[in-house]
Amino acid sequence: MDLAGHHIAPPVQRRPEIATDRRAVRKGMMPSAMSDTIKNTHPGGDASGSASGDASRDATAGRGYLPDDRSGVAGQPRHAPGGRHSVVVVGGGFGGLYAAKGLAAAPVDVTLIDRVNHHLFQPLLYQVATGILDEGSVAPALRSVLRGQTNVEVLLAEVTGFDLEARTVRALAPDDRPLTIGYDTLVVATGVRTDYFGHDEWAEAAPGLKSLEDARWLRSHILGAFEMAELADDPHERRAWLTFVVVGAGPTGVELTGEIATLAHRVLPKDFRNVSTREAQVILMDGLPTILPRFAESLRRRAASDLRALGVEIRTNTLAVDIDVGGMTVRRNDRTGADTGLDERLAAHTIIWAAGVRAAPAADALASAAGAARDRIGRLLAEPDLSLPGHPEVLVVGDMVAGELPGIAPVAMQEGRFVAGLIEARVTGRPSPPAFHYHDKGTMATVGPRRAIVEAYGLRVGGFAGSVMWAFIHLYYLIGWGNRWVTLLRWLLQMTTRNRSNRLVDVEHAASWRELRRRGEHTEPGFWERMRRKDGAG
Ligand SMILES: Cc1cc2nc3c(=O)[nH]c(=O)nc-3n(C[C@H](O)[C@H](O)[C@H](O)COP(=O)(O)OP(=O)(O)OC[C@H]3O[C@@H](n4cnc5c(N)ncnc54)[C@H](O)[C@@H]3O)c2cc1C
Repeated sequence: MDLAGHHIAPPVQRRPEIATDRRAVRKGMMPSAMSDTIKNTHPGGDASGSASGDASRDATAGRGYLPDDRSGVAGQPRHAPGGRHSVVVVGGGFGGLYAAKGLAAAPVDVTLIDRVNHHLFQPLLYQVATGILDEGSVAPALRSVLRGQTNVEVLLAEVTGFDLEARTVRALAPDDRPLTIGYDTLVVATGVRTDYFGHDEWAEAAPGLKSLEDARWLRSHILGAFEMAELADDPHERRAWLTFVVVGAGPTGVELTGEIATLAHRVLPKDFRNVSTREAQVILMDGLPTILPRFAESLRRRAASDLRALGVEIRTNTLAVDIDVGGMTVRRNDRTGADTGLDERLAAHTIIWAAGVRAAPAADALASAAGAARDRIGRLLAEPDLSLPGHPEVLVVGDMVAGELPGIAPVAMQEGRFVAGLIEARVTGRPSPPAFHYHDKGTMATVGPRRAIVEAYGLRVGGFAGSVMWAFIHLYYLIGWGNRWVTLLRWLLQMTTRNRSNRLVDVEHAASWRELRRRGEHTEPGFWERMRRKDGAG
């Protein structure tokens, strides 16, 4: 049976009478070890077999889950007789997807688990948030990406815990059914999430940009802010709707402000009657003395001047000290980084947080299961071959790995490929590569629709030439020919027509003010009264 149809057999102790493998049935084969690695723990599922050992501690206890005999040696493959080595990959982002793809020719069965059904191309997320690209272009379904790879199975589930003794992963299906998935080798690539440096309360007023959901929300909010400005009769209120602040001047902050400014100053002006969208104030803010600190000085200067030409105001040495839905309080430091004591209140209804990240919650669960050390932002410290200390069978990949390497897609992709090679070498008995080495191909960021800075292979390119290089490289890594063509077409259209095709917003989502009112969090005196008067409620 399948997941929907309940029990799929326990790891290692095989019970062929209940372990009906979908692929085995399809192919007319006996159940493989792979099918046996997935155990549905639905209360109504299989109840035969006795729970024992660590299994009694997890959600599967008493539901027929049978842990293996633990006879395997850590790091040594432990297959069922006649079965194939099973690899569970958690996370279908750059790290996880490239690990799964890298195992295409390996004699293993792979289960890829993700809480979303798509592979998200995060580098283009800001284009979804600003109405240039639609969601589908940057987020192909994992199933379709891996359609041709017959040794991979994709599961939509949220991983909640790990039992490294039993070699199982605990997860929740979309209907909250607990699942337990056994593995011989585990690859975890769950990335990072937005972090507010201890001010989690800022999250509601200053969303980050990490997921497709974030991008959709931001797009509604940004487009809705212009609609709200059009409706505002109070000049201060209009100003607040037309003030957009992005906190964090790394590539994401630069890309977002460049596109919001382009929207305000070039795309929208002719579409509005009561408000001049050119009056929008787009602010890029950072506590550091410079934007884009990872780039060479000359490229930073060039990006700053391109941003200013688009109408972006750059405020470096500036810290957010308080954020709420009406705006934020900022503090300026002097050139030496010392606090000037000068706080300023900025009225702004759109504040976007692009400043901090922290390892995703699954990293916490894995660290406590493995007793692994973590860095300041919760990323795991791994061995040079990306395994966890004391657990050679557990490999970590991508943004969740602590160290000097930047949290960028090429690192995650190369690490994914590396662990795939490592697993294949172990399974086939070839010598394992001892350590991961990153091949740095460079870094880049766009500054509005026709400018980019690129630092690669010793070259430093800016301006239009940079944007052409940026476009080709992003199209190359974007998954699916359909997505590449659609994206290229959208880029050409927006360059030539100065319009954007994804400008959808409705009253429920326009600047989310109804949502904010429901939460009763708006701090600005008189705001809701004005809103009520406007919609005739009071
Ligand atoms: C807005 C933005 C712009 C960026 N721009 C660039 C750029 O221009 N160039 C560049 O090189 N890099 C860029 N990056 C960084 C790059 O996207 C990351 O370095 C890369 O995605 C890391 O890959 P990963 O596999 O570690 O994590 P991710 O790609 O984040 O993948 C993690 C996956 O794990 C899944 N997951 C998390 N928790 C669970 C769970 N409990 N259960 C199941 N699944 C789970 C998630 O759904 C996700 O699919 C950008 C990132 C962002 C957010």
